[in-house]
Amino acid sequence: MAFDTIIAGAGIIGSSIAWRLAQQGLRVLLVDAGRMGAEASSAGAGMLAPGGEIDERLPWNDLALESLHLYPAFVAELEEESGCRIDFQRLGAIELALSGTEWTELEARGQRQAAFGIPSCPLTRSELRQHAPLARQDVAGALFYPQDAVVDPRDMMTALRAACLAHGVEIREGVRVTAIRPHAGAVRMETAAAVFEAPAAVIAAGAWSSQIAVEGQTLPRAFPVRGHLIGYPLAPHSLGPLLRRGHTYLLQRNSGFTVAGTSSEQVGFDRTLDPAILADIHARASELLPAVTGLLASQRWVGFRPAVDGRLALGRAANTAVWLAYGHYRNGILMAPGTAQRVAQGIIASSGTGSSALPGRP
Ligand SMILES: Cc1cc2nc3c(=O)[nH]c(=O)nc-3n(C[C@H](O)[C@H](O)[C@H](O)COP(=O)(O)OP(=O)(O)OC[C@H]3O[C@@H](n4cnc5c(N)ncnc54)[C@H](O)[C@@H]3O)c2cc1C
Repeated sequence: MAFDTIIAGAGIIGSSIAWRLAQQGLRVLLVDAGRMGAEASSAGAGMLAPGGEIDERLPWNDLALESLHLYPAFVAELEEESGCRIDFQRLGAIELALSGTEWTELEARGQRQAAFGIPSCPLTRSELRQHAPLARQDVAGALFYPQDAVVDPRDMMTALRAACLAHGVEIREGVRVTAIRPHAGAVRMETAAAVFEAPAAVIAAGAWSSQIAVEGQTLPRAFPVRGHLIGYPLAPHSLGPLLRRGHTYLLQRNSGFTVAGTSSEQVGFDRTLDPAILADIHARASELLPAVTGLLASQRWVGFRPAVDGRLALGRAANTAVWLAYGHYRNGILMAPGTAQRVAQGIIASSGTGSSALPGRP
């Protein structure tokens, strides 16, 4: 079969791009070295929370905010097309400050963020108790971000697989792309077993993206930043909004399963769980949510955030039909809808195929 676009990497980024392109009638081949969605896109906690991530206005931050606004429609459309339910909750987030200094800094951050479109408001003691009764109450201050949300990334991947298949995307798993050779307005993608050709290709291989050599190009270097997470079985709807303090956070799925994170290590692709890091996350989570203090985590896992030198590799590699979509680091679940929209629009506009007005466009 001839393809219009070949995508290397079937995490949330590559799969979202594949879905958007296939919706417009393009024939898409989605290739993954392992299993679709089994890497960072299953490991991620699923915070859709620019409030805790963005401190200054940068282009990638605009993409994060754009994506947050696209999320409700993206999820609704994906549920509709896939027939799969997605655990998406817009309950906001509460950032806790445990000292006067922390609170002064947090209030100042909230004011800076308001200027570039992230609203927040301080909570009184009784409001904190009302929104998050299980959260630690003896705090110096609490800032509420009403627009922040959470999604279960595994639900997203299940739905994306079904939606891609419904639109005729060919998914090949266990196939590692080794090289891409651009030539005369097209690209040749090489794997150990076969060579594919198409008018366009996308590199969306997350933390592994730099393992794919692109002839004639020096591209932003991708590398893994490992993160640990733990999960507790709590009563459904007991947590309320996402609870956060710096890089410590807790969020709850509709089932009650409560995820606590996280850590950051540059150790290559080492999947070993570090007991000291897990204990530290448990201790930090217990500080924010005393209810988990005596609990044993029922799940523990690691994943590899795709980092790059620079912020994000997004767009077309110079003078080629090779598109880059990697390096989403801590926010790839959040940025999937906006990334898919931009990359799919770019490919369609440059190929002259179909309409460039993609569904989900604001
Ligand atoms: C602990 C942790 C917590 C996180 N929490 C959040 C969060 O709360 N919110 C948020 O927005 N983001 C979060 N993230 C980040 C988010 O998970 C990532 O940014 C996002 O999943 C990246 O998606 P991706 O599709 O680029 O990469 P991946 O999901 O890693 O997908 C890349 C795919 O490429 C495949 N591949 C690799 N090499 C090749 C090759 N040579 N050929 C073909 N295929 C290949 C892999 O098998 C993989 O399936 C978190 C990440 C971690 C690790």
